[in-house]
Amino acid sequence: MNLVERDIEVNWHPYTQMKTAPLPIPIVKGQGTLLIDENGKEYIDAISSWWVNIHGHSHPYIAEKIFEQLNRLEHVIYAGFTHPSAVELSERLLKILPENQGKIFYSDNGSTAVEVAIKMSIQYWKNQSITRNKFVALKNAYHGDTFGAMSVGARSVFSEPFINYLFDVEYINVPVKGSENETLNQLEAFLSKGNCSAFIFEPLMQGAAGIIIYEPEVLNKMLEICKKYNVLTIADEVATGFYRTGKFLATDHIIENPDIICLSKALSGGTLPFAVTSVTNNIYEKFLSPDKSKMLLHGHSFAANPVGCAAALASLDLIEKDEFSKNLVRIENNHKRFLPRLIEHPAAENCRMLGTILAFDVVSSEENSYYSSLRDSIWNYVIDKGVLLRPLGNTVYILPPYCITDDEMKKVYSVIMELLDSIKGEFSN
Ligand code: PMP
Repeated sequence: MNLVERDIEVNWHPYTQMKTAPLPIPIVKGQGTLLIDENGKEYIDAISSWWVNIHGHSHPYIAEKIFEQLNRLEHVIYAGFTHPSAVELSERLLKILPENQGKIFYSDNGSTAVEVAIKMSIQYWKNQSITRNKFVALKNAYHGDTFGAMSVGARSVFSEPFINYLFDVEYINVPVKGSENETLNQLEAFLSKGNCSAFIFEPLMQGAAGIIIYEPEVLNKMLEICKKYNVLTIADEVATGFYRTGKFLATDHIIENPDIICLSKALSGGTLPFAVTSVTNNIYEKFLSPDKSKMLLHGHSFAANPVGCAAALASLDLIEKDEFSKNLVRIENNHKRFLPRLIEHPAAENCRMLGTILAFDVVSSEENSYYSSLRDSIWNYVIDKGVLLRPLGNTVYILPPYCITDDEMKKVYSVIMELLDSIKGEFSN
């Protein structure tokens, strides 16, 4: 049996209808922006492998630092113990996080980073014997697949089978252009009832909802309203963190600082499952008490795993290099030059960009749904041409590792143009 045959005998892949999905592509090597399959075919990873990879695949510097750490200390229980990499990483993160952030809590994926933020918010109020029961979130929100994270997310295709098991949340409109005041009014009306514990949001860009972008000014006003009503603010920067929107955090585009920040995906440079939830000292202090039951009642076996910390530290080293910021500008400029061509194309609509993220919708008579058949046709088309894109319904987006070369970007753009040219003929839906 070959690798793919062996895979489907034993493996169950995420977000995959195993009965009808195309066979998985057997990747045996990653190098820079490229993924290479067992037949030697190369794929440009134009989506950073689910938003995680920022420095390119199999980066030798991160690999070396991971190896060094593995030889020194691979893991230690983080309750009752600490280690140099956790201390150094928290020190370095707190230097680049907003100035109001005071403590770092470690977990191991984006959903758990959010889960921790939710539990911190609930217990923050409970520890003070204050009743604040409700979360407010944005419509369409996606915050992960664990139950708390699903609950604060929109009721959508992702959570549909589990709806009866999720807790109630108040939703307000996404403040897209033209509807800002409506959202601000909804937020104020809800918060004035006095029962809200926290507002959770994907800052400036909702990813899984289909790359929906909104402006910093309105987000800043929303955080001002939350401050006015003493409601905690949770920035889910799992997707937007690490310069995707042009700055380290999407919330670095605004003046107000969130109380809690969730980071994962690119935190370890795309190498290991790793996450942090950072908080203000004000929140942290509400858990300090002679009463043991007021401690944060949450933890994971792999919390602050030293190898994860070493990968994140190595990634921060690479971020600090001059080349890194030059690459961000270069990618943004390439996107800006490509955008007018995209806008002109009759098969593309809602063309948009934010930092290194570029997205558009493929025009179709079919409803833009996660299950659209056009989505599968787009996937097949671009994969065949050696480009990895993972459309969300008819929405196509590019967010490459920052080491992508100009030539590789040109190839991605030209495959997209070919795709759009072929839309009418080939997919005829
Ligand atoms: N929050 C956001 C904004 C995300 O985009 C995601 C993942 N796409 C998550 C949380 C969950 O992260 P993970 O898949 O690592 O659990």
